[in-house]
This record gives sequence, structure tokens and C-alpha cells, in this order.
Amino acid sequence: MKPTEEEDERGGFISGSKLSRAINCQGAHALELVANTPPPKWFTEAGTRIADLIDKLATDPDSVNDIDVDEEEMETALFLLNKKATKFSEICEEQGYNPDDFTVFHEERFWYTHEATPYYSGKLDTGAYHKTKPIAVVIDDKSGWMELPPPWMNDQLKSYALLLYQNVPHLTNKEVKIHVATNSRFWDQEATLDFDDLREFHAIAVNAIKAINLNPKPYGLPLRAGEWCRYCDARMECPLLRQGLVSIEGNYGPPVEIYEKIRQMDVPEIEAVLIASETVNFAVKAIYDEAERRIQKSPDEFKQFEYRSGPSRRVLVDSTLPEVASNLADIGVTGEEVLSCLRGDALTIGKTSKLEKLIYAKLNLDPDAKITHKDADEVMVKALGGFVGEKTPAPKLWKKKPPKKQVAKGKEVKA
Ligand code: SF4
Repeated sequence: MKPTEEEDERGGFISGSKLSRAINCQGAHALELVANTPPPKWFTEAGTRIADLIDKLATDPDSVNDIDVDEEEMETALFLLNKKATKFSEICEEQGYNPDDFTVFHEERFWYTHEATPYYSGKLDTGAYHKTKPIAVVIDDKSGWMELPPPWMNDQLKSYALLLYQNVPHLTNKEVKIHVATNSRFWDQEATLDFDDLREFHAIAVNAIKAINLNPKPYGLPLRAGEWCRYCDARMECPLLRQGLVSIEGNYGPPVEIYEKIRQMDVPEIEAVLIASETVNFAVKAIYDEAERRIQKSPDEFKQFEYRSGPSRRVLVDSTLPEVASNLADIGVTGEEVLSCLRGDALTIGKTSKLEKLIYAKLNLDPDAKITHKDADEVMVKALGGFVGEKTPAPKLWKKKPPKKQVAKGKEVKA
């Protein structure tokens, strides 16, 4: 397959977005280079188009008039661009910086070198550095839904901060401060990295990449499964995932034995099984994705499948929570109740289904009544006053229903 423009730019070196995988699974890079690289998923392509739009809007807004643009993607690009400008101003205000003292850039690739050798590269969506002081800001756009690790645990953002640190001469200073942030529709995350953080990350990244450079052959380095497997191009070539399917890492025999023994296992066994099951999950996901790709590649061969979107999901966005809570106070819903309806650590994304039921109860509507999508929309819009976001989920592959048999009127059908 012809390398993409992005792959050409990276020249076979590790990129900031893949650094987390290189750190956690050192064997992945060599395997990915020889893997039968799958075509990008639709949402990756959409993310790339949105990033391109943001760049065009930021640097040459008129240029978007000449291209065919998907309306929803344009709306996301404009939203993220505006939010990014607000975020930069907020960081400056909080820290007492003057925005005019910064040089701002978009979509620029930098290289990290160690001992005169290129180690990795990264293209920063937006960066800004103070013209004289050792201060910088890195803002990474995320157009997707997936929740990410917070910036202080996010290897991609740390890798970008380290790139700026090395490439902007006056940042190379023990007083350095690099503010990193993710720019997303659905969450707000920020952190400040100092010299010690950068030094620590430098050691982790350099050790991992050094080991990879010294062992360039596939299967020369240990593999470790985890979150970083999700976008690994070598999933179908990965012996660890394959082995996981056969015996859950060979520790417990065939999965069916675990299935039978799991209720009697003690804590260490459960912990091991949990890790091993995760490996199996990634292997099964890889099989599903590959099957999906076959269908995508040859739709004429698989005419019985089609892509269909499920109903939109409604979500509350954390930045609007105070307004949502005050709006709901009118119908007797407390802020505590709103938070208790949101999942996880509550301040990221909340599905609204529990909240819908609560609102129904407060409005003396039957909470167990079958709520149709349209009814729920009406009630929610009324109660939440527009603070509810809509998100159409990714289209999923379905097997088409066989066409109904046509029976001519008046004819008897024999069983
Ligand atoms: S699939 Fe996971 S374990 Fe296998 S090479 Fe890729 S990152 Fe490593």
C-alpha cells in the first residue's frame, strides 16, 4: 500500500501519537512496520479532515470556499477553533500572561533528537511559545468521543511538550513551564509540565526508543497488551493477542476452564485473569475490525451487509453543568441529582438516559413508561433549555433483513 503523506513525513520514525504504544509495548513498532497495514477507519479519516479544516480556517479561511466540506465536520472544526482560542486566552488570563507576547503556530512538525540521532517526530495542532520567557502552550484537538487519559498521564501531549522544549531555544531552561491541554467538545483537560516532568518523560521515551532502535527486527522485543493495542496496525500479526485467544497467555488453559473456575478464584488469580481477558478482548476486537474491513473493501461480495446508524445519543457537557443544574432547579431537580445521573467521575461526559427518567419523575410523568425518542427529546429540550448535546453514533455494520416473501392475494401458501 502506498504510504500516506503523513507516513512519508515521519520517514518510518515513531510519531508522538504512537509514542505511548512504543513505551508500553516495545515490540509493536517493528511489527507495525511489516504488518499488512489496514486502511484507516472512517472516524480516523474524519478526524484528519477536521484537523485539516481547522488548520485552513486558522491560517487561510478563504481556502475552505474552494473545497467540498461535510456540514457536520465544518461545524465541529469551527467549534474546536473557537474553543481553542478561548482556551488559550483563559490559560493566559489564569497565568497572568499577555497573549501578544506569544508566537502561535498551527500544524507544525518537530523532531526530537538524542545523541545527534532523530528519535521521534510530532505534528502539533497548535502551539505557542513566549517570545522571551521559558513558557509555552500546547493544545491538541480531539474531534472524537473517546475519553483520553488526563494530560498529566497523556504520553502524546507530553511528547509534544518535549518537542517544543527541545526546538525552541529559550525554553531549554530549568524554569520552563509548558501548559498542555486537550481541546474537545466533550471534556476540558489541562496540566502544566515543568522541568522535572519533562526530564522524567525524556528518560522514559528515550529508553523505549533506544531499545526499539537496537532491536529493529519484528519479534525482537517483548509485547504487552493494553489500551495502546486499540489502534495498533499489527493486531492481526500480534502473537500475544493470538496466544491470548488460545489459552489466555497459557496460564490457565483454554478459556473454557477459566469460565468454569472463575467463581472460586482468589485475588491474585482474578487479577491475572483480568489482564489476560483484556488481551482476549483486544484480539476479538481485531477479528471484528478485520471482518468489517473485508466487507468495506469488497462491498459487492458482501451485499447482505449494510451500515446503519443507531439513534443519536444525548449528552450533557461538563462546562454547561452549572447552567443545566440551575435550569433544572425550576422543576425540583437538585445539582446533586444531576451529578448522580452522570457516569464515571461525573465531570466528563454524562449520558442523559438516567436524567431523562429523573425529569420524567419530577414532572409526574410515569418514569417507567416507554419513552419514545421524540417524546424524550421534547421533554429534555423543555427541561434542559438546549444544554443537551446530540451525537450521532458511528454507523454500525448490520446484516440486511431478507426481503419479505411476496404472496399473491387469494393464494394459499403451503408449509
Ligand atoms: S497488538 Fe498490542 S500487544 Fe500486540 S503488538 Fe500491538 S500494541 Fe503490542
